[in-house]
Amino acid sequence: MIPAAPLPMQPRRWQQAWREAVRDPRELLALLGLQDAALAVSEEAAVQFALRVPRGFVARMRHGDPHDPLLRQVLPLDAELRAAPGFGLDAVGDGAAKAGHGVIHKYAGRALLVATGSCAVNCRYCFRRHFPYAEETAAAGGWRAALAVIAGDPTIEEVLLSGGDPLSLATSKLAELTDALRSIPHVRRLRIHTRLPIVLPERVDDELCAWLAALPWPVAIVVHANHANEFDASVDAAMRALRDAGAVLLNQAVLLRGVNDTVDALAALAERGFAAGVLPYYLHQLDRVAGAAHFEVDDATALALHAALVARQSGYLVPRLVREVAGDASKRAVLPTGDGRITPSMA
Ligand SMILES: *Cc1c(COP(=O)(O)O)cnc(C)c1O
Ligand code: SF4
Repeated sequence: MIPAAPLPMQPRRWQQAWREAVRDPRELLALLGLQDAALAVSEEAAVQFALRVPRGFVARMRHGDPHDPLLRQVLPLDAELRAAPGFGLDAVGDGAAKAGHGVIHKYAGRALLVATGSCAVNCRYCFRRHFPYAEETAAAGGWRAALAVIAGDPTIEEVLLSGGDPLSLATSKLAELTDALRSIPHVRRLRIHTRLPIVLPERVDDELCAWLAALPWPVAIVVHANHANEFDASVDAAMRALRDAGAVLLNQAVLLRGVNDTVDALAALAERGFAAGVLPYYLHQLDRVAGAAHFEVDDATALALHAALVARQSGYLVPRLVREVAGDASKRAVLPTGDGRITPSMA
């Protein structure tokens, strides 16, 4: 008898989908039938910050449409290389705010853990394009430094996992953290900020849901979708599984020129998200990070869009319009006079 060959380790489905992400701009354009389109695709921008997009997300892009709102979020363009005044490297001041290894404790009651620097997708507007967070992630060293910070400060009631994308860590790694957090009595809530259930819904597997369902705290999961087209049946199924595991689902979006800067797009995003069991939370004004200036929507336009949403949507389908200001103790509401800037409509 021939001895059976040892079974190869079965890679998990999500890790395989992760590895198979599209990384070549030419391949992406070919998949969309855009190889001949006059798009100002930039090799140099792709060297600065690589293209990376899971195939399932590409499948939600419209074939043959160079203006597709999902494509615009991931395609490296010449526009990223143009210097813009006010757009810098540390747009939100996090460089200065790190209290320990990967812990940002700027807001009362909440400690944000930069769990990892990895993401399954590279969003062109992200501050992460300049900060790979190679060394300072909270997961390094068995979460020891982060746990010490949390255990040592009884005002921290909520632990917020962010990144990068915290769900890019193996579930066993996440469990390592939450097992240790159980013995810290002042921790009362867990929050996870993640784009993976949107861009790589395969990540929401049985193992992840079993971990979530067994946690002793109420859990909020803040996903990140900017356009209604980011939802499809696979995302719906992932959202249902997360809700069945007991999590409350919220969405944060970034207001992006050419992606979601119309009332119809914002209304559709809120409605489509709600159909999947997700309530809108924040609509962020762009962090002014170098390379993202072409996505910016000015405050007057943002306020007008927001007012139009208020006029037309159920209150619970209207996100809060905010911006992150370095040194502030919370997200700052964008108001007609909120940050002292004279908006064009008032001038
Ligand atoms: C955004 C953010 C939070 C969470 O703020 P909420 O308004 O509670 O969503 C916490 N800590 C830091 C450092 C943040 O940037
Ligand atoms: S998923 Fe979030 S952290 Fe990752 S690149 Fe996109 S915006 Fe940045």
